[in-house]
Amino acid sequence: MAKLFKNYINGKWKASASGGTFENVNPANQSEVLGRFQKSNKKDVNEAIAAAEEALPQWRATPAPKRGEILFKVAELLLQQKESLAQDMTREMGKIISETRGDVQEAIDLTYYTAGEGRRLLGETVPSELKNKFCMSVRMPVGIVSAITPWNFPIAIPSWKLVPALVCGNTVVIKPATDTPLSVVNFVKVCEQAGLPPGVLNLVTGSGSDVGTPMTEHEKVNLVSFTGSTDTGAVIASSCARNMKQYSLEMGGKNAIIVMDDADLELAVEGVIFGAFGTTGQRCTACSRVIVHKKIAKKFTEMLVARTKTLKLGDGLKPKTDVGPLVNESQRTKVDNYVQIGTNEGAKLLTGGKYATGKDCKNGSFYQPTIFADVAPKMRIAQEEIFGPVASVIRVKDYDEALAVANDTEFGLSSGICTTSLKYASHFKANAEAGMVMVNLPTAGVDYHVPFGGRKGSSYGSREQGRYAAEFYTTVKTAYTAP
Ligand code: NAD
Repeated sequence: MAKLFKNYINGKWKASASGGTFENVNPANQSEVLGRFQKSNKKDVNEAIAAAEEALPQWRATPAPKRGEILFKVAELLLQQKESLAQDMTREMGKIISETRGDVQEAIDLTYYTAGEGRRLLGETVPSELKNKFCMSVRMPVGIVSAITPWNFPIAIPSWKLVPALVCGNTVVIKPATDTPLSVVNFVKVCEQAGLPPGVLNLVTGSGSDVGTPMTEHEKVNLVSFTGSTDTGAVIASSCARNMKQYSLEMGGKNAIIVMDDADLELAVEGVIFGAFGTTGQRCTACSRVIVHKKIAKKFTEMLVARTKTLKLGDGLKPKTDVGPLVNESQRTKVDNYVQIGTNEGAKLLTGGKYATGKDCKNGSFYQPTIFADVAPKMRIAQEEIFGPVASVIRVKDYDEALAVANDTEFGLSSGICTTSLKYASHFKANAEAGMVMVNLPTAGVDYHVPFGGRKGSSYGSREQGRYAAEFYTTVKTAYTAP
Protein backbone atom coordinates (compact mmCIF):
# COMPACT_ATOMS: atom_id res chain seq x y z
CA MET A 1 0.00 0.00 0.00
CA ALA A 2 1.35 3.44 -0.95
CA LYS A 3 2.35 5.83 1.84
CA LEU A 4 -0.41 8.07 3.22
CA PHE A 5 0.17 11.85 3.37
CA LYS A 6 -2.04 14.25 5.33
CA ASN A 7 -3.09 17.89 5.38
CA TYR A 8 -1.17 20.26 7.65
CA ILE A 9 -3.49 22.40 9.75
CA ASN A 10 -2.63 24.35 12.90
CA GLY A 11 0.73 22.60 13.20
CA LYS A 12 -0.73 19.06 12.95
CA TRP A 13 -0.82 16.49 10.14
CA LYS A 14 -4.53 15.60 9.77
CA ALA A 15 -6.74 13.41 7.61
CA SER A 16 -9.40 15.21 5.55
CA ALA A 17 -13.01 15.48 6.68
CA SER A 18 -14.15 13.32 3.75
CA GLY A 19 -11.76 10.48 4.66
CA GLY A 20 -11.10 10.08 0.93
CA THR A 21 -7.69 10.06 -0.75
CA PHE A 22 -6.23 10.29 -4.25
CA GLU A 23 -3.11 8.69 -5.73
CA ASN A 24 0.00 10.46 -6.98
CA VAL A 25 1.53 8.49 -9.87
CA ASN A 26 4.99 8.72 -11.45
CA PRO A 27 4.39 9.83 -15.07
CA ALA A 28 7.60 8.10 -16.22
CA ASN A 29 6.48 4.81 -14.71
CA GLN A 30 2.74 4.70 -14.20
CA SER A 31 2.87 1.57 -12.07
CA GLU A 32 4.71 3.51 -9.33
CA VAL A 33 2.35 5.19 -6.87
CA LEU A 34 4.27 7.77 -4.81
CA GLY A 35 1.61 8.17 -2.19
CA ARG A 36 -2.02 8.73 -1.30
CA PHE A 37 -3.04 12.29 -0.50
CA GLN A 38 -6.09 13.80 1.20
CA LYS A 39 -9.16 14.45 -0.92
CA SER A 40 -10.16 17.51 1.06
CA ASN A 41 -13.27 19.66 0.90
CA LYS A 42 -14.74 22.92 2.19
CA LYS A 43 -14.70 21.70 5.82
CA ASP A 44 -10.91 21.25 5.71
CA VAL A 45 -10.50 24.65 4.07
CA ASN A 46 -12.63 26.27 6.79
CA GLU A 47 -10.53 24.61 9.47
CA ALA A 48 -7.27 25.73 7.82
CA ILE A 49 -8.50 29.31 7.46
CA ALA A 50 -9.65 29.33 11.11
CA ALA A 51 -6.13 28.20 12.10
CA ALA A 52 -4.59 30.94 9.96
CA GLU A 53 -6.91 33.50 11.58
CA GLU A 54 -5.99 32.39 15.08
CA ALA A 55 -2.26 32.48 14.33
CA LEU A 56 -2.35 35.89 12.64
CA PRO A 57 -2.18 38.30 15.63
CA GLN A 58 0.93 36.68 17.08
CA TRP A 59 2.67 36.22 13.74
CA ARG A 60 2.04 39.79 12.58
CA ALA A 61 3.32 41.01 15.98
CA THR A 62 6.54 39.00 15.60
CA PRO A 63 9.24 41.46 14.49
CA ALA A 64 9.85 41.12 10.76
CA PRO A 65 13.61 40.38 11.25
CA LYS A 66 12.62 37.45 13.52
CA ARG A 67 10.21 36.16 10.88
CA GLY A 68 13.10 36.47 8.43
CA GLU A 69 15.34 34.37 10.70
CA ILE A 70 12.91 31.44 10.57
CA LEU A 71 12.84 31.74 6.78
CA PHE A 72 16.65 31.75 6.65
CA LYS A 73 16.43 28.39 8.42
CA VAL A 74 13.96 27.23 5.76
CA ALA A 75 16.57 28.10 3.10
CA GLU A 76 19.31 26.20 5.00
CA LEU A 77 17.11 23.10 5.31
CA LEU A 78 16.10 23.25 1.64
CA LEU A 79 19.80 23.34 0.78
CA GLN A 80 20.53 20.33 3.00
CA GLN A 81 17.63 18.34 1.52
CA LYS A 82 18.02 19.55 -2.07
CA GLU A 83 18.81 16.18 -3.65
CA SER A 84 15.95 14.23 -2.07
CA LEU A 85 13.49 17.07 -2.80
CA ALA A 86 14.63 17.08 -6.45
CA GLN A 87 14.33 13.29 -6.75
CA ASP A 88 10.80 13.30 -5.32
CA MET A 89 9.88 16.07 -7.74
CA THR A 90 11.19 14.20 -10.79
CA ARG A 91 9.28 11.11 -9.68
CA GLU A 92 6.06 13.01 -9.16
CA MET A 93 5.95 15.22 -12.27
CA GLY A 94 8.58 13.90 -14.65
CA LYS A 95 10.95 16.76 -15.45
CA ILE A 96 14.60 15.77 -15.60
CA ILE A 97 16.74 15.75 -12.47
CA SER A 98 18.94 18.69 -13.51
CA GLU A 99 15.75 20.77 -13.87
CA THR A 100 14.25 19.65 -10.57
CA ARG A 101 17.54 20.47 -8.83
CA GLY A 102 17.22 23.89 -10.46
CA ASP A 103 13.62 24.19 -9.23
CA VAL A 104 14.71 23.54 -5.62
CA GLN A 105 17.73 25.83 -6.03
CA GLU A 106 15.42 28.62 -7.16
CA ALA A 107 13.42 28.19 -3.95
CA ILE A 108 16.65 28.22 -1.89
CA ASP A 109 17.94 31.40 -3.52
CA LEU A 110 14.59 33.13 -3.35
CA THR A 111 14.14 32.18 0.30
CA TYR A 112 17.57 33.54 1.30
CA TYR A 113 16.91 36.76 -0.60
CA THR A 114 13.33 37.25 0.59
CA ALA A 115 14.13 36.39 4.22
CA GLY A 116 16.25 39.56 4.06
CA GLU A 117 13.05 41.53 3.45
CA GLY A 118 12.53 41.08 7.18
CA ARG A 119 15.10 43.86 7.58
CA ARG A 120 14.16 45.80 4.49
CA LEU A 121 10.37 46.26 4.51
CA LEU A 122 10.87 49.88 3.64
CA GLY A 123 8.36 52.68 4.00
CA GLU A 124 8.86 56.41 3.53
CA THR A 125 9.28 59.43 5.75
CA VAL A 126 8.23 62.67 4.10
CA PRO A 127 7.83 66.24 5.35
CA SER A 128 4.25 67.06 6.22
CA GLU A 129 2.60 70.29 5.11
CA LEU A 130 1.19 70.51 8.66
CA LYS A 131 3.29 72.25 11.30
CA ASN A 132 5.10 70.06 13.84
CA LYS A 133 3.87 66.80 12.31
CA PHE A 134 5.85 63.70 11.43
CA CYS A 135 4.53 61.88 8.40
CA MET A 136 5.46 58.37 7.31
CA SER A 137 4.18 55.34 5.44
CA VAL A 138 4.70 51.82 6.78
CA ARG A 139 4.11 48.36 5.35
CA MET A 140 1.63 46.13 7.21
CA PRO A 141 0.59 42.51 6.56
CA VAL A 142 -2.53 42.07 4.42
CA GLY A 143 -3.93 39.23 6.59
CA ILE A 144 -4.88 35.73 5.48
CA VAL A 145 -3.48 34.56 2.15
CA SER A 146 -4.76 31.73 -0.08
CA ALA A 147 -2.02 30.40 -2.36
CA ILE A 148 -3.06 28.16 -5.28
CA THR A 149 -0.26 26.62 -7.34
CA PRO A 150 0.28 24.55 -10.53
CA TRP A 151 2.31 21.38 -11.06
CA ASN A 152 5.12 22.47 -13.39
CA PHE A 153 7.35 24.21 -10.81
CA PRO A 154 6.23 22.30 -7.71
CA ILE A 155 8.57 23.91 -5.16
CA ALA A 156 9.81 27.08 -6.88
CA ILE A 157 6.34 28.56 -7.45
CA PRO A 158 5.02 27.80 -3.94
CA SER A 159 8.21 29.45 -2.58
CA TRP A 160 7.51 32.59 -4.68
CA LYS A 161 4.22 32.92 -2.82
CA LEU A 162 4.80 31.51 0.66
CA VAL A 163 8.12 33.09 1.54
CA PRO A 164 7.20 36.73 0.78
CA ALA A 165 3.72 36.27 2.27
CA LEU A 166 5.21 34.91 5.51
CA VAL A 167 8.07 37.37 5.91
CA CYS A 168 5.57 40.19 5.48
CA GLY A 169 3.58 38.87 8.47
CA ASN A 170 0.63 37.16 6.76
CA THR A 171 -0.65 33.69 7.55
CA VAL A 172 -1.22 31.30 4.67
CA VAL A 173 -3.24 28.36 3.38
CA ILE A 174 -1.73 26.63 0.34
CA LYS A 175 -3.31 24.23 -2.12
CA PRO A 176 -0.95 22.47 -4.54
CA ALA A 177 -1.99 21.00 -7.89
CA THR A 178 -3.25 17.42 -7.58
CA ASP A 179 -0.31 16.18 -9.72
CA THR A 180 2.34 17.53 -7.31
CA PRO A 181 1.18 17.39 -3.69
CA LEU A 182 4.34 15.56 -2.53
CA SER A 183 6.71 18.44 -3.32
CA VAL A 184 4.53 20.87 -1.37
CA VAL A 185 4.18 18.45 1.56
CA ASN A 186 8.00 18.28 1.54
CA PHE A 187 8.27 22.07 1.48
CA VAL A 188 5.79 22.46 4.35
CA LYS A 189 7.71 19.84 6.38
CA VAL A 190 10.84 21.96 5.93
CA CYS A 191 8.94 25.02 7.23
CA GLU A 192 7.75 22.97 10.20
CA GLN A 193 11.34 21.83 10.94
CA ALA A 194 12.52 25.44 10.69
CA GLY A 195 10.18 26.36 13.55
CA LEU A 196 7.29 28.14 11.88
CA PRO A 197 4.60 28.42 14.59
CA PRO A 198 1.36 26.37 14.28
CA GLY A 199 -1.33 27.90 12.09
CA VAL A 200 1.03 30.28 10.28
CA LEU A 201 1.27 27.98 7.26
CA ASN A 202 -1.45 25.42 6.46
CA LEU A 203 -1.66 22.91 3.63
CA VAL A 204 -4.84 21.43 2.17
CA THR A 205 -4.67 19.01 -0.78
CA GLY A 206 -7.47 18.27 -3.23
CA SER A 207 -9.16 19.47 -6.39
CA GLY A 208 -9.71 22.97 -7.68
CA SER A 209 -13.47 22.79 -7.21
CA ASP A 210 -13.48 21.17 -3.74
CA VAL A 211 -10.55 23.08 -2.23
CA GLY A 212 -9.53 25.93 -4.57
CA THR A 213 -13.01 27.44 -4.85
CA PRO A 214 -13.68 27.70 -1.10
CA MET A 215 -10.15 29.04 -0.58
CA THR A 216 -10.97 31.80 -3.06
CA GLU A 217 -14.45 32.60 -1.77
CA HIS A 218 -13.98 32.40 2.01
CA GLU A 219 -14.88 35.74 3.62
CA LYS A 220 -11.86 35.74 5.95
CA VAL A 221 -9.34 35.45 3.13
CA ASN A 222 -7.82 38.85 2.29
CA LEU A 223 -5.55 37.97 -0.62
CA VAL A 224 -5.47 35.25 -3.28
CA SER A 225 -2.24 34.43 -5.10
CA PHE A 226 -2.79 32.13 -8.07
CA THR A 227 -0.59 30.54 -10.71
CA GLY A 228 -2.17 28.30 -13.34
CA SER A 229 -4.12 28.44 -16.57
CA THR A 230 -5.75 31.56 -17.94
CA ASP A 231 -9.22 29.92 -17.81
CA THR A 232 -8.93 29.20 -14.09
CA GLY A 233 -7.42 32.64 -13.52
CA ALA A 234 -10.50 34.26 -15.04
CA VAL A 235 -12.79 32.34 -12.64
CA ILE A 236 -10.64 33.38 -9.66
CA ALA A 237 -10.52 37.00 -10.82
CA SER A 238 -14.29 37.34 -10.97
CA SER A 239 -14.72 35.71 -7.56
CA CYS A 240 -12.07 37.98 -5.97
CA ALA A 241 -13.51 41.08 -7.64
CA ARG A 242 -17.02 40.26 -6.33
CA ASN A 243 -15.68 39.73 -2.83
CA MET A 244 -13.26 42.70 -2.79
CA LYS A 245 -10.14 40.59 -2.27
CA GLN A 246 -6.65 41.55 -3.32
CA TYR A 247 -5.39 39.10 -5.97
CA SER A 248 -2.65 38.32 -8.42
CA LEU A 249 -2.77 35.88 -11.31
CA GLU A 250 0.16 34.31 -13.14
CA MET A 251 -1.23 32.42 -16.13
CA GLY A 252 -0.47 30.97 -19.56
CA GLY A 253 1.87 31.94 -22.35
CA LYS A 254 2.41 31.55 -26.10
CA ASN A 255 5.95 32.79 -26.18
CA ALA A 256 7.94 33.41 -29.35
CA ILE A 257 11.59 33.60 -30.34
CA ILE A 258 12.40 35.61 -33.47
CA VAL A 259 15.44 34.37 -35.39
CA MET A 260 16.79 37.13 -37.62
CA ASP A 261 18.96 36.58 -40.70
CA ASP A 262 21.98 38.02 -38.83
CA ALA A 263 21.61 35.68 -35.84
CA ASP A 264 24.17 33.19 -34.56
CA LEU A 265 22.17 30.17 -35.71
CA GLU A 266 23.80 27.64 -33.41
CA LEU A 267 23.02 29.82 -30.41
CA ALA A 268 19.48 30.29 -31.69
CA VAL A 269 18.95 26.53 -32.11
CA GLU A 270 20.09 25.89 -28.52
CA GLY A 271 17.81 28.66 -27.23
CA VAL A 272 14.81 27.25 -29.06
CA ILE A 273 15.57 23.67 -27.99
CA PHE A 274 15.76 24.68 -24.31
CA GLY A 275 12.71 26.93 -24.62
CA ALA A 276 10.54 24.47 -26.54
CA PHE A 277 11.50 21.12 -25.04
CA GLY A 278 12.84 21.95 -21.56
CA THR A 279 10.36 20.69 -18.93
CA THR A 280 8.85 18.81 -21.92
CA GLY A 281 7.39 22.14 -23.10
CA GLN A 282 5.35 22.45 -19.91
CA ARG A 283 6.47 25.91 -18.89
CA CYS A 284 4.48 29.13 -18.93
CA THR A 285 7.61 30.62 -20.54
CA ALA A 286 8.04 27.81 -23.11
CA CYS A 287 8.96 28.91 -26.61
CA SER A 288 6.19 27.42 -28.73
CA ARG A 289 6.49 29.79 -31.71
CA VAL A 290 9.70 30.22 -33.67
CA ILE A 291 9.47 33.21 -36.02
CA VAL A 292 12.21 32.88 -38.63
CA HIS A 293 13.50 35.32 -41.24
CA LYS A 294 12.91 33.86 -44.71
CA LYS A 295 16.61 34.22 -45.71
CA ILE A 296 17.77 31.68 -43.13
CA ALA A 297 14.50 29.76 -42.66
CA LYS A 298 15.54 26.65 -44.59
CA LYS A 299 18.98 26.34 -43.02
CA PHE A 300 17.77 27.14 -39.49
CA THR A 301 14.84 24.72 -39.67
CA GLU A 302 17.10 21.90 -40.87
CA MET A 303 19.51 22.58 -37.99
CA LEU A 304 16.62 22.70 -35.50
CA VAL A 305 15.11 19.43 -36.70
CA ALA A 306 18.51 17.69 -36.67
CA ARG A 307 19.17 18.85 -33.09
CA THR A 308 15.65 17.87 -31.98
CA LYS A 309 16.24 14.33 -33.25
CA THR A 310 19.23 13.98 -30.90
CA LEU A 311 17.13 14.52 -27.77
CA LYS A 312 16.94 11.45 -25.57
CA LEU A 313 13.58 10.69 -23.98
CA GLY A 314 13.18 8.70 -20.79
CA ASP A 315 12.97 8.67 -17.02
CA GLY A 316 14.18 12.05 -15.75
CA LEU A 317 16.13 10.38 -12.94
CA LYS A 318 18.56 8.90 -15.49
CA PRO A 319 21.38 11.42 -16.01
CA LYS A 320 21.48 11.02 -19.80
CA THR A 321 17.79 11.85 -20.31
CA ASP A 322 17.11 15.16 -22.08
CA VAL A 323 13.29 15.12 -22.09
CA GLY A 324 10.99 13.50 -19.54
CA PRO A 325 7.32 12.53 -19.82
CA LEU A 326 4.29 14.81 -19.82
CA VAL A 327 2.79 15.19 -16.38
CA ASN A 328 -0.15 12.83 -17.00
CA GLU A 329 -2.14 11.01 -19.67
CA SER A 330 -4.67 13.79 -20.19
CA GLN A 331 -1.83 16.21 -20.94
CA ARG A 332 -0.45 13.69 -23.47
CA THR A 333 -3.88 13.39 -25.12
CA LYS A 334 -4.17 17.18 -25.26
CA VAL A 335 -0.78 17.49 -26.99
CA ASP A 336 -1.70 14.77 -29.48
CA ASN A 337 -5.02 16.52 -30.23
CA TYR A 338 -3.12 19.72 -31.02
CA VAL A 339 -0.83 17.81 -33.37
CA GLN A 340 -3.94 16.59 -35.23
CA ILE A 341 -5.31 20.15 -35.26
CA GLY A 342 -2.03 21.50 -36.69
CA THR A 343 -1.95 18.81 -39.37
CA ASN A 344 -5.59 19.50 -40.32
CA GLU A 345 -4.86 23.25 -40.45
CA GLY A 346 -2.21 22.56 -43.13
CA ALA A 347 0.99 22.90 -41.11
CA LYS A 348 3.85 20.61 -42.17
CA LEU A 349 4.99 18.08 -39.56
CA LEU A 350 8.80 17.92 -39.74
CA THR A 351 9.56 15.65 -36.82
CA GLY A 352 7.75 14.00 -33.89
CA GLY A 353 3.96 14.09 -33.78
CA LYS A 354 3.46 10.73 -32.02
CA TYR A 355 3.39 9.07 -28.62
CA ALA A 356 6.92 7.92 -27.75
CA THR A 357 6.81 4.21 -26.99
CA GLY A 358 10.44 2.98 -27.17
CA LYS A 359 11.92 0.87 -24.38
CA ASP A 360 12.69 3.88 -22.14
CA CYS A 361 9.22 5.30 -22.65
CA LYS A 362 6.81 2.39 -22.67
CA ASN A 363 5.56 2.81 -19.09
CA GLY A 364 5.01 6.56 -19.11
CA SER A 365 3.20 9.46 -20.78
CA PHE A 366 5.95 10.33 -23.25
CA TYR A 367 5.51 12.33 -26.45
CA GLN A 368 8.02 12.88 -29.23
CA PRO A 369 9.48 16.40 -29.46
CA THR A 370 7.55 17.86 -32.38
CA ILE A 371 8.23 20.59 -34.92
CA PHE A 372 5.78 22.03 -37.42
CA ALA A 373 6.81 24.26 -40.35
CA ASP A 374 4.66 26.36 -42.71
CA VAL A 375 2.63 27.54 -39.76
CA ALA A 376 0.44 30.60 -40.35
CA PRO A 377 0.25 33.08 -37.46
CA LYS A 378 -3.51 32.65 -37.01
CA MET A 379 -3.51 28.86 -36.88
CA ARG A 380 -4.70 27.45 -33.57
CA ILE A 381 -1.31 25.81 -32.94
CA ALA A 382 0.22 29.30 -33.20
CA GLN A 383 -2.34 30.94 -30.93
CA GLU A 384 -3.34 28.50 -28.18
CA GLU A 385 -1.17 27.31 -25.30
CA ILE A 386 -0.39 23.62 -25.98
CA PHE A 387 1.80 23.09 -22.89
CA GLY A 388 3.78 20.26 -24.43
CA PRO A 389 6.83 19.59 -26.63
CA VAL A 390 5.50 21.21 -29.81
CA ALA A 391 7.17 24.13 -31.61
CA SER A 392 5.68 25.94 -34.63
CA VAL A 393 7.99 27.57 -37.18
CA ILE A 394 6.53 30.69 -38.80
CA ARG A 395 8.41 32.23 -41.72
CA VAL A 396 8.47 36.05 -42.09
CA LYS A 397 9.90 38.49 -44.65
CA ASP A 398 11.50 41.06 -42.31
CA TYR A 399 11.85 42.38 -38.76
CA ASP A 400 8.63 44.44 -38.83
CA GLU A 401 6.57 41.40 -39.76
CA ALA A 402 8.40 39.31 -37.14
CA LEU A 403 7.56 41.79 -34.38
CA ALA A 404 3.92 42.00 -35.48
CA VAL A 405 3.61 38.20 -35.44
CA ALA A 406 5.34 37.92 -32.05
CA ASN A 407 2.86 40.40 -30.56
CA ASP A 408 -0.18 38.86 -32.28
CA THR A 409 -1.28 36.76 -29.31
CA GLU A 410 -3.68 37.07 -26.41
CA PHE A 411 -0.76 36.27 -24.08
CA GLY A 412 2.26 38.40 -23.14
CA LEU A 413 4.60 36.60 -20.79
CA SER A 414 8.04 36.27 -22.38
CA SER A 415 9.38 37.11 -25.83
CA GLY A 416 12.80 36.64 -27.41
CA ILE A 417 14.91 37.64 -30.38
CA CYS A 418 18.16 36.20 -31.72
CA THR A 419 20.09 38.85 -33.58
CA THR A 420 23.51 40.49 -33.71
CA SER A 421 21.91 43.85 -34.56
CA LEU A 422 21.82 46.38 -31.73
CA LYS A 423 19.10 48.23 -33.65
CA TYR A 424 16.73 45.24 -33.76
CA ALA A 425 17.56 44.19 -30.20
CA SER A 426 16.87 47.67 -28.82
CA HIS A 427 13.66 48.12 -30.80
CA PHE A 428 12.44 44.69 -29.76
CA LYS A 429 13.10 45.29 -26.05
CA ALA A 430 11.03 48.47 -26.27
CA ASN A 431 8.18 47.12 -28.39
CA ALA A 432 7.66 43.44 -27.54
CA GLU A 433 4.30 43.18 -25.73
CA ALA A 434 5.59 40.94 -22.97
CA GLY A 435 6.56 41.20 -19.33
CA MET A 436 9.98 39.65 -19.97
CA VAL A 437 12.16 40.17 -23.03
CA MET A 438 15.21 38.09 -23.96
CA VAL A 439 17.94 38.87 -26.49
CA ASN A 440 20.00 35.86 -27.66
CA LEU A 441 18.57 33.76 -24.82
CA PRO A 442 15.75 31.23 -24.35
CA THR A 443 12.33 32.60 -23.35
CA ALA A 444 12.60 30.83 -19.98
CA GLY A 445 14.85 31.64 -17.02
CA VAL A 446 14.69 34.76 -14.86
CA ASP A 447 16.67 35.65 -11.70
CA TYR A 448 14.75 35.46 -8.43
CA HIS A 449 15.48 39.07 -7.49
CA VAL A 450 13.91 40.62 -10.58
CA PRO A 451 10.18 40.82 -11.29
CA PHE A 452 8.51 37.82 -12.95
CA GLY A 453 5.24 38.25 -14.83
CA GLY A 454 3.61 39.36 -18.02
CA ARG A 455 0.86 41.26 -19.79
CA LYS A 456 -2.51 40.60 -21.43
CA GLY A 457 -3.83 37.07 -20.73
CA SER A 458 -0.60 36.00 -19.01
CA SER A 459 -0.70 37.96 -15.78
CA TYR A 460 -2.87 40.21 -13.71
CA GLY A 461 -1.85 42.21 -10.67
CA SER A 462 1.55 42.52 -9.09
CA ARG A 463 4.71 40.85 -10.37
CA GLU A 464 6.17 37.97 -8.36
CA GLN A 465 9.75 37.81 -6.98
CA GLY A 466 12.12 40.63 -6.05
CA ARG A 467 10.89 43.68 -4.18
CA TYR A 468 7.57 43.60 -6.04
CA ALA A 469 6.55 40.53 -4.05
CA ALA A 470 6.94 42.39 -0.75
CA GLU A 471 4.76 45.18 -2.12
CA PHE A 472 1.99 42.74 -3.03
CA TYR A 473 1.94 40.96 0.34
CA THR A 474 1.76 44.19 2.35
CA THR A 475 -0.71 47.01 2.62
CA VAL A 476 0.63 50.52 3.03
CA LYS A 477 -0.47 52.64 5.98
CA THR A 478 0.14 56.38 6.19
CA ALA A 479 0.79 57.49 9.77
CA TYR A 480 1.11 60.94 11.37
CA THR A 481 2.53 61.81 14.76
CA ALA A 482 2.07 65.13 16.54
CA PRO A 483 4.31 66.00 19.48
P1 NAD B 1 -4.81 24.92 -13.63
O1 NAD B 1 -5.39 26.28 -13.86
O2 NAD B 1 -5.55 23.76 -14.13
O3 NAD B 1 -4.58 24.67 -12.08
C1 NAD B 1 -3.79 25.54 -11.29
C2 NAD B 1 -4.24 25.40 -9.84
O4 NAD B 1 -5.56 25.93 -9.71
C3 NAD B 1 -4.33 23.95 -9.36
O5 NAD B 1 -3.92 23.88 -8.01
C4 NAD B 1 -5.81 23.64 -9.51
O6 NAD B 1 -6.26 22.60 -8.68
C5 NAD B 1 -6.42 24.99 -9.10
N1 NAD B 1 -7.78 25.23 -9.58
C6 NAD B 1 -8.40 24.72 -10.67
N2 NAD B 1 -9.66 25.21 -10.78
C7 NAD B 1 -9.83 26.08 -9.74
C8 NAD B 1 -10.90 26.93 -9.31
N3 NAD B 1 -12.05 26.99 -9.99
N4 NAD B 1 -10.72 27.69 -8.22
C9 NAD B 1 -9.55 27.67 -7.54
N5 NAD B 1 -8.50 26.87 -7.88
C10 NAD B 1 -8.63 26.10 -8.98
O7 NAD B 1 -3.32 24.97 -14.23
P2 NAD B 1 -2.25 23.78 -14.28
O8 NAD B 1 -2.66 22.83 -15.35
O9 NAD B 1 -2.00 23.24 -12.91
O10 NAD B 1 -0.95 24.57 -14.71
C11 NAD B 1 -0.63 24.86 -16.03
C12 NAD B 1 -0.91 26.31 -16.34
O11 NAD B 1 -0.19 27.15 -15.44
C13 NAD B 1 -0.44 26.72 -17.72
O12 NAD B 1 -1.41 27.52 -18.33
C14 NAD B 1 0.82 27.54 -17.43
O13 NAD B 1 1.15 28.46 -18.45
C15 NAD B 1 0.45 28.19 -16.16
N6 NAD B 1 1.63 28.64 -15.43
C16 NAD B 1 1.88 29.97 -15.34
C17 NAD B 1 3.01 30.45 -14.71
C18 NAD B 1 3.29 31.92 -14.60
O14 NAD B 1 4.05 32.31 -13.72
N7 NAD B 1 2.73 32.76 -15.46
C19 NAD B 1 3.90 29.54 -14.13
C20 NAD B 1 3.62 28.17 -14.23
C21 NAD B 1 2.48 27.74 -14.87
